[in-house]
Amino acid sequence: MLAALKDIRKLNLQQLQDVLKLWHEPAFRAAQIYEWLWQKHITQFEDMRNIPKLLRQKLQATFVIQAVQIHETQCSHDGTLKCAMRLFDNYVVESVLIPEGPRMTACISSQVGCSLTCAFCATGKLKRMRNLEADEIFDQVALVNEEALRVYKKKLSNIVFMGMGEPLLNYKAVIEAISKICSPQGMGISPQRITVSTAGVQKMIKQLADESLKVHLALSLHAATDEKRNTVMPINETNSVTALKSALQYYIKTSGRRPTLEYVMLHGFNDQPEDARDLIAFARGLKTKINLIEYNPVAETGFTASSRNRMHAFAAQLQEQGLICTIRRSRGKDIDAACGQLANRNALAQPEYK
Ligand code: SF4
Repeated sequence: MLAALKDIRKLNLQQLQDVLKLWHEPAFRAAQIYEWLWQKHITQFEDMRNIPKLLRQKLQATFVIQAVQIHETQCSHDGTLKCAMRLFDNYVVESVLIPEGPRMTACISSQVGCSLTCAFCATGKLKRMRNLEADEIFDQVALVNEEALRVYKKKLSNIVFMGMGEPLLNYKAVIEAISKICSPQGMGISPQRITVSTAGVQKMIKQLADESLKVHLALSLHAATDEKRNTVMPINETNSVTALKSALQYYIKTSGRRPTLEYVMLHGFNDQPEDARDLIAFARGLKTKINLIEYNPVAETGFTASSRNRMHAFAAQLQEQGLICTIRRSRGKDIDAACGQLANRNALAQPEYK
């Protein structure tokens, strides 16, 4: 039986240069091929127009390009575009383009499914099947950028790792993908325009603080006491609120950056004045800003969104204490827009998920 061909995008530039040297090709070919793969984002060897035909054929006989493809797109009346991305092994993840004023933000997945089972989340209902590879993460960004150019004639300005999965549990691939996204040989996007959002893996928050990459960090807090957070985010049992606060203090001290606290507002669960007091106590002494997020309801979770009035009163309570706080409206309400919903629907057709 023939061995499976290797994905050429698993090679770094040096490894590609080594292969071409073995084939007695001029050194500049490696840079040309690398540019086709990562800057021009082609998915067929035959599209490498400045590469001689014989070399293209040799590449084709030796390697494959396991590129991610857009399987389905939904467009919301508010302009949000949600893409179900099909991977080479037929798993589906989702990526979202959120146009907002001058900003074009891509929300990117880091895992197929998620192991963390947060009670309010659609992705939490999908078993974690596997981590995404760095190139699959990169592909999502490149494809969403193509959609932004196609639909809005604008390039991506921001990237958030807030799609399916916990990015800090696929740390190596996420960091590798970010390096490639930021590199001049990749997409040349500034790391300051990238936000990694975590459900709270304190050890990895500290590791991220130590990286030289200058990305932003967001902590999905959603409840500010162990008692309450344990009931909706099982990860809190091993990463307590106190441990997370100490990891954030380390992050702020080491990186000099201001992390964001994400707080999705769930009617009757975490939106009362005493919850605001708990959040104020958590944020006290931290250089942070708080995003209060309107909940996009997910069937069968039992949660509904807090009212606008309640969100404003909650925000006012935080602001009175000097905290920086913004209300974030839910986007794409008319499509399967809550994290995991579109992939969930596609995934149900896949035997692996049953
Ligand atoms: S909220 Fe994030 S970490 Fe929690 S289950 Fe959903 S995808 Fe996973």
